[in-house]
Parts: sequence; C-alpha cells; structure tokens
Amino acid sequence: MVQSAVLGFPRIGPNRELKKITESYWKGKASVDELLKVGKDIRVANWKLQKDAGVDIIPSNDFSYYDQVLDLSLLFNVVPERYTKYDLPLLDTMFAMGRGLQRKATETSKAVDVTALEMVKWFDSNYHYVRPTFSHSTEFKLNGQKPVDEYLEAKELGIQTRPVLLGPVSFLLLGKADKGSLDLEPLSLLEQLLPLYKEILSKLQAAGATEVQLDEPVLVLDLEKSAQDAIRKAYEYLGKQSGLPKITLATYFGTTLPNLDSLKNLPIGGLHFDFVRGPEQFDKVLDIVNKDQTLSVGIVDGRNIWKNNFAKSSELVNKAVAKLGSDRVVVATSSSLLHTPVDLENEPKLDPEIKDWFSFATQKVKEVVIITKNVAGEDVEAELEANAKSVATRAASKRTNDEAVQKRVASINEKLSTRLAPFAQRLAEQKKVFNLPIFPTTTIGSFPQTKDIRINRNKFVKGTISAEEYEKFINSEIESVIRFQEEVGLDVLVHGEPERNDMVQYFGEQIQGYTFTVNGWVQSYGSRYVRPPIIVGDLSRPEAMSVKESVYAQSITTKPVKGMLTGPVTCLRWSFPRDDVDQQTQALQLALALRDEVNDLEAAGIKVIQVDEPAIREGLPLRAGEERSAYLKWAAQAFRVATSGVQNKTQIHSHFCYSDLDPNHIKALDADVVSIEFSKKDDPHYIAEFKEYPNHIGLGLFDIHSPRVPSKEEFISKIENILKSYPADKFWVNPDCGLKTRDWEETRASLTNMVAAAKHFREQH
Ligand code: GLN
Ligand code: ZN
Repeated sequence: MVQSAVLGFPRIGPNRELKKITESYWKGKASVDELLKVGKDIRVANWKLQKDAGVDIIPSNDFSYYDQVLDLSLLFNVVPERYTKYDLPLLDTMFAMGRGLQRKATETSKAVDVTALEMVKWFDSNYHYVRPTFSHSTEFKLNGQKPVDEYLEAKELGIQTRPVLLGPVSFLLLGKADKGSLDLEPLSLLEQLLPLYKEILSKLQAAGATEVQLDEPVLVLDLEKSAQDAIRKAYEYLGKQSGLPKITLATYFGTTLPNLDSLKNLPIGGLHFDFVRGPEQFDKVLDIVNKDQTLSVGIVDGRNIWKNNFAKSSELVNKAVAKLGSDRVVVATSSSLLHTPVDLENEPKLDPEIKDWFSFATQKVKEVVIITKNVAGEDVEAELEANAKSVATRAASKRTNDEAVQKRVASINEKLSTRLAPFAQRLAEQKKVFNLPIFPTTTIGSFPQTKDIRINRNKFVKGTISAEEYEKFINSEIESVIRFQEEVGLDVLVHGEPERNDMVQYFGEQIQGYTFTVNGWVQSYGSRYVRPPIIVGDLSRPEAMSVKESVYAQSITTKPVKGMLTGPVTCLRWSFPRDDVDQQTQALQLALALRDEVNDLEAAGIKVIQVDEPAIREGLPLRAGEERSAYLKWAAQAFRVATSGVQNKTQIHSHFCYSDLDPNHIKALDADVVSIEFSKKDDPHYIAEFKEYPNHIGLGLFDIHSPRVPSKEEFISKIENILKSYPADKFWVNPDCGLKTRDWEETRASLTNMVAAAKHFREQH
C-alpha cells in the first residue's frame, strides 16, 4: 500500500506559543518547567493533528527550542569549550550557543559572558541555523538522547513516529572549524562521528522505532568528489549495521542529479526526493531506486503556501507506482513544513476567494493524505473535485491576471533597462548638481524606530487617529530626523522611514497583486519569526507609494534627500512568490511598478534615489552554472528596469547587506553609488575585490546590530586601512545598514564620530 509521510512540522505553535514562552524564560519570567511544558504541548498537538489527518509516517525530533542543527551539535557534544566552562544546564548551554549569554555573578553562579556561534542561512530559505563548530579538541560522545525521548513521548500517546535527524555528511559540511583549529577539515571527522549515529539509531531501535529519516540536503549543492564519497561511506557503514531502524535518506530544495551516482545501491531502506523543486530528476531517480528501497515522492511543497494540484501530483505518484509497485512508494511533503505558516484557519481576514487558493502546514498534511488515498484507489472524489475547481478558479481569476501588466512586461527591451549614458558621463553631470566633497557622508535609510512611532502607527491602523493626524505625526518625525542630520553634518540625507513597518510589507500593501496574513508566521531563527506577504497576481502600482514623505523631507532642507525604495528582487525574495509564473516575470513586474515610483520621485524633484537590494545575494541559486548566471542576469535587469527611467543627473544608489557580496554580482546593476555591509570584513583580499568595481561605493564603517559607539580614531584607522587598497575618489562614508534598531543616543554619537573622521580625510586630500 502507498503510504503518506510528513518530513517535519512547524514547531512554533498555532499562536506563536513557543516564542512567547521562550522569551519569557530568557527574561527570567518563566521557569524551565513552564518552558518544557509548552514545548511538550506543541509536540503532542502536532502529532495528534497528523495522526488524526491519517498520516502514516509522522516525524518526531522535528521539534526544537531553538534550531534542529544546534540540537544535533549538542547531542554529539560538538560544544566549544567557551560554552562548557560555566557548567550551565544543557538547555542553557544550548541557548548560549544560539544567542550568546551575558549574566552577572550571583551567590550561586558565576558570571557568564559568551558570544553566540555563527548563524547562517539554511540553503536558500529564510530560516537560519546555528553553525556546528568543530575543533581539534571536540570530543564526540552522546550528550543526552533528545531523539529517543521525543520518540518515546509520542509512543506513550500510542503514536508511532519516524525520528528525523540531519545526516552526518550534511552536519559536517554545514559546519566549520573553530578559530584556533582553522586547519581542521570538518569532513575529516566523519569516521569519529559515524559511531555516534549508530549509537543513537540503535537506541531508537531499542525504544521501538522501526524507521528513521536522515536528512542530507547538501546533496542539492555542488559537491566535490570527497563529499560524494563521504555520502557513500556514511550510508554503507550505517546500512550494514544490524539492529538499526530502516533508514530513509532525505534530500530537498533542488535536484540531486549531479550527485545521484553517490546514492546508487546504498544498503538503506528508502530515498526521498523533492520533486517540487527538482522535477527534472524524476526519471533518473526511478532508475536508481533498487528493489529493496522505497521511494518517497516529495510532492506537497514545503516552501510555499499554494494549494497542491491533486490531479498533477497523483499522476506523478502513479508513474512511480507503475514502476516500483505500491508497497515501495511514499507520498510526502517536499521538505519539512517548517517553512510554511501553521494553519490557514487562523486567517479570518483573508478574502475567501483568495483563501481557497492557499494551503498552510495543517492543510498540507491533509493534502499528502488525500493524494495517497487517491493513488490507492480510495474514494476522494469530493476532495478532487473541489481541488480541481479551486485550481481552475485561480488560473482564470481576474486577481491573478492583469493583461496590461503582462503586455508591459513583454515590452521590456534593452533600451528600457539601460541608463541614458554610461557611468562616467552621468557622474560628470551629477558632480555639477551636487558638488559634494570627497568622502561624502550618508546613512542607509532608517533612523531609530521609537516606541512613539510604533504607538502612532498602531493607532492609525486601528483608526483611533485620522489620516491627517498621522501624516502630521510622520512629518514631525521626518523634520526632526532632517534637523538631526544637518546638525551632525551629513551630506546626503534621508527622511528616516518612520512610516514603514517593514521594508517589503510597506510597499507590498500599496502594490496591487499582493495579499497579507495576520497569523502567517514562519520561523526565521530562534524566537524570531517573519510573516511574509504573498504575491497572488500580476503586480502593479496604482498610485505613488513614497513620494509624499520624500517630497516633504526635501522641502525642508537645502541638502539632497534620498528617495528610498525596496528593490524588485528583495520584494520578491521576502514574499511567498507565485508558483504559476516564473520568478523572473514577478521580479520584472515589481521592477515596472518601482520604475513608475522612481520616475515619480524624480518628477517631484528628488535628485538621489536609493533602491535597496539586500536580498539579492540570498536569491543566488544553490548550484553554479546556467541557472545561477541566468538569475544574476535577470536580477540585474530587474534593478535596471526600475532605475533606468531617470536623467543622467539623477543619482541612483543601491544597498546590500546580510552576506558576503561578490562585487561581480552587482556590476550589472549599474547603480551610481552602492553601500554595502562591511564593518566586520577587514580581510584585505575582500577589500581589494572592490577596487575594480567601476562605480562609487560606501563600505559600511560600523555595525548597526551593536550598541557600541566607535570612536573617531577607530573610524580613521578603519578608513586608512581601506584606503590601502581602495581609491579615495570613489569612497563614500556610511554605516553598514539602516539604524532602525538603535536608539538615538548611540546613533548621534556614532554618526558624529563618523563625520569627524570623514572631515579628517578631506583635509588630507
Ligand atoms: N533602507 C533600509 C533601512 O535603512 C535598508 C534595510 C536593509 O538593508 N535591510 O532600514
Ligand atoms: Zn542593509
């Protein structure tokens, strides 16, 4: 019989229960028992939900109080000494590794001061994991038995589960060597690590587990031969042990084709593939599944919120059944459902027409079951019919299709995506307009978002203050930000973004084709969750979105004020995109909407316009090659479509952060000035890479995540260091990113010192 499987379920709770209890535990307001109780309640509810839905293979150990990769570091005792030396309870050690810990000494405990481990993006998702950090003194051993405990917890409820663990090769490859052990190659630890997997798996077997899921998502990356060999070696080792549960090796987020050879004839019981993100691997995969293995067909999308197309999915599963027989096929989510919001039923405000197109984690669980029943020949006629109707309605809906937008995208050509003149000529014209000093100073856009701002915004949203009152409030905020910047002596000003809740949502709310949830939270890292807006249809801008605030700001100062927009790729990446139209098309639609805004800003007298693209790097396809170069091409094109409608003398800025940026990736954007996060990147090779960058750059000079205020001397030495390999005449002076999370006092002090340092260099040049 065909079986149904879920690879993982969101663990935040339907009403963000985990966030609330964890944060109050951190503040000392909730006890450890209260925290553990909420955790258990969430796990139990998740298992029951899946059991009631009729899922055959239900995951356990997909729960985590912070991050599942961090849990594994802890389980295998991959805990750097700086965290163990305080003798904290295991749970607190884990939180210290995830988020750092600073605590004064008390009568019973010593003072603690330790920074967090590195946090990195989980593949191309917006989830971040805590990086396993290995050293020569890492002593592998089992630390507790979380997977067994959670397995038993479910078993007590009468629910048989399949424990999930990140597999050994991914665990090592996603990790890094600690400072002090930089010559250590994590993969070289495989032999020491494998016996621990064997040990935990045999404990699971002893507890009653018949099957485990080992995730090896690194199989969708470009793997070197050594890594492919490691996969073979690891699963030959584990597969040959007796007394272990059946192993299903799971891959997701892309195709495994280039690495598929390493999966051939492994002595394990099952393989899982993501056919949503990697449909092209289907035929080849069918060829390599051997007679002792089941194939888990990942077909319900774990990364997006669209309703599954039952007819299409069933067809694919049926092909697998035809070849392998029904006992060897499993219908599954493409990946863990961690990346989707918990429950569509929590969305009372969604328009019913649109709501019918969506499926959140709770609904996806049911989808897996229905597809399974369908291919097993059970009667699900009613569900199939409703599904077909919903799919057809969406495809034909006016909200999805806007012919005018489609025509406009089709008309995009070289001319529309190219500035009138090359950079050198633009620069000459801009110099005449602005007459800026060398080492011009600026900021990235936002200024401290005070409590007062949030209160007034909420009042406005709730309707307790009128639009006029709110505008008056915003204008007074803008005015004080402008006066502040004049006092501090900055050269190119910003309006401070007080009217924006979030840099994507603010524009999304004004762009037709977007919709929003009230409860659609998805874990980003630890207790931080995001609520991505959803792109439902063709995108257009009915009215100006930011002109009013920029014009007001410019009207009260003689210094240039930058218009401030979020770029097309960032709007796309930080939303749930459509699945019926390719990403390039959606980016170009956003680009056209932004182009109208850029042109309106220019027409209203704004002479400098910044279009932020902080997400451009994370959108980079996971593998090198055609798809990646195509992405870089269309991402740059989208930016140029947005920004090429202006005259030569209008100065276009852009901004990037959150990642190591390769200057080659942004050349094609042809922005006049870019600012990038740079304060922690003192590597001379990295600085030198920017030397060849043709246009002007502001290399970020201070970390906006920290309240620390750098002194004037510190700024001077930073700038001096950069000047060793970067020319003075292209040098802008600015912070790493926006200042919205800082408070005013630090902001004033840091910017004052930064401006003083710029003046110091002006006198010298
Ligand atoms: N202009 C935005 C700000 O200053 C940029 C934010 C970002 O890059 N993440 O807040
Ligand atoms: Zn930024």
